[in-house]
Amino acid sequence: MAGGVYVLIALTFGIATGVIGRAKGSSFLIWLLVGTVLPLLGLIGVILYRPETEEPERSCPTCGKVLKLYVQVCPRCGTDLYLPDPSEVTQPRV
Ligand SMILES: [Zn+2]
Repeated sequence: MAGGVYVLIALTFGIATGVIGRAKGSSFLIWLLVGTVLPLLGLIGVILYRPETEEPERSCPTCGKVLKLYVQVCPRCGTDLYLPDPSEVTQPRV
């Protein structure tokens, strides 16, 4: 029955991973699959996973292109970007 127990544990991890993935705006099925195939790694992965849309944004002071906060050089005009004034940072709604 060891195989059955393993499947049960893997499925439990899979569902937990899927639920967290769904709560973060990703696909339940994809994370269910990841969590079932890689029980512990999948769960850690989904906990660390951050959807791109949650990254704070600001616009380039030179050309106005909207960039993620972690971008250090503007890909459009090549301006070096430093941490902006907090008032210029847009926090996307979750
Ligand atoms: Zn720019």
